[in-house]
Amino acid sequence: MPLFDYRCKECGEQSELLVGTTARPQCPKCGSEQMAKLLPIVASPSRGATANRGGAPPQGSCGAGCGCHPRG
Ligand SMILES: [Zn+2]
Repeated sequence: MPLFDYRCKECGEQSELLVGTTARPQCPKCGSEQMAKLLPIVASPSRGATANRGGAPPQGSCGAGCGCHPRG
């Protein structure tokens, strides 16, 4: 059973709810079904890790079949 964080739109109660495939999340406090699913908190990668991915772009060192030289 997946466990998600939900926040009630009615009373603002935030809680982790087990949600099945058909069951609707329901606020344990006020019973409302107006629950907004919160995004799971994941560990974000450090900034700059993907800033220079792949290095510098190719500059004419590859062949004609590479595709980086559009034929005019
Ligand atoms: Zn509520």
